[in-house]
Amino acid sequence: MKSKVILLVCDGLGDRPIPELDFKTPLEAAETPNLDYVAKRGICGLMYTLGPGLRPGSDTSHLNILGYDYHKYYSGRGTIEVAGLGMKLEEGDVALRGNLGTVDENLTIIDRRAGRIRDVSEFVRELDNLEIDGVKFLVKPGTAHRVGIIMRGENLSNKIADADPHETGEKVHTVEALDDSREARRTAEVLNKYLEKCHQILLQHPENERRQKEKKLPANYLLVRGAGFYKSVPPFSERFGLKACCIAGGGLYKGIGAYLGMKILKVEGATALPDTNIDNKFDTVKDRLGEFDFFFVHVKAADSLGEDGNYLGKKEFIERIDRSLERLLSLDNTLLVVTADHSTPCSLKKHSADPVPICFYGLDVRTDSVTEFGERACAGGGLGRLTGSEVMPEIINILGLSDLVGA
Ligand code: ZN
Repeated sequence: MKSKVILLVCDGLGDRPIPELDFKTPLEAAETPNLDYVAKRGICGLMYTLGPGLRPGSDTSHLNILGYDYHKYYSGRGTIEVAGLGMKLEEGDVALRGNLGTVDENLTIIDRRAGRIRDVSEFVRELDNLEIDGVKFLVKPGTAHRVGIIMRGENLSNKIADADPHETGEKVHTVEALDDSREARRTAEVLNKYLEKCHQILLQHPENERRQKEKKLPANYLLVRGAGFYKSVPPFSERFGLKACCIAGGGLYKGIGAYLGMKILKVEGATALPDTNIDNKFDTVKDRLGEFDFFFVHVKAADSLGEDGNYLGKKEFIERIDRSLERLLSLDNTLLVVTADHSTPCSLKKHSADPVPICFYGLDVRTDSVTEFGERACAGGGLGRLTGSEVMPEIINILGLSDLVGA
């Protein structure tokens, strides 16, 4: 039987020493008997997901860890987000993320999320499938105020700035080309026409009349950002010969899975928030072990808690991951890889370039003398320092599936 692989990515897990935690990191301060068990019986190291000194985004780091060099396969968040909404991309498409927001008559932003509107599908129906100057606009609702947009036509470029100013009280930007190419100028021009048309449609939308009667903010502007250009991506399963699936709560991570052609498994209670049901995620791995060879499992909240500077919350969330992990420790013929996509130190409240701990456990992996899963313990591990792009080759080697280099 083919060996199975579980890649568990705990978003933003890495941190820095915190005085209130006796100069331990949240991971070091947490009670983690199961992670320590894995570290003791496996092989550990530290990983720079992009490279030393490079501060990773969650999108680029995941691509690298999953064996897709971000230089080649990353051109903007839009492509990944729309893939996560189940939209089918074609070569040459430009994809954008969007919000339905509220602007005043001067196009100044009152609320980027239209009063945290719950569902935008009524609006999106009117904005979908419009064509301007030979470019078709495909739009699909995401969760709450979010939408995904594909621009499909000849000679498009993602070298365009965001229309979304990202701040309340700022005026909506006219989309500008970021280089002198004909493609960038054309894309910006067509997109500006489309956004103006959408604004007119939304101003007259009956649903907005209803909202205003209920004293709710109207959803009257489509704010777009994160343009990505789509070039076809070889599916993960073909590339590595491992039938793969993705278990995640957050849209971006499902998007990464979908972008790489993985099957997205639905898990009840997977919210990408601190209350997410980790047990259900790990039980889904166990239940579907016969169907897939590779499980990309993502847990989000350590990152969000780090961004809040909430080191106690982060420590407690890591303890929750640890308790749930017990159900994955005695699977036969399975390699478990536990790591993170980047550090999110509570002192910085943002991603940092500090390397993250990584551990390989299961099958016949070599071991080292590390007995705890933590930043300083893993620094002395047998894997040494890896980069994200070395993770998949390492996994393929452990499975005994690597090609021979030379004769
Ligand atoms: Zn992340």
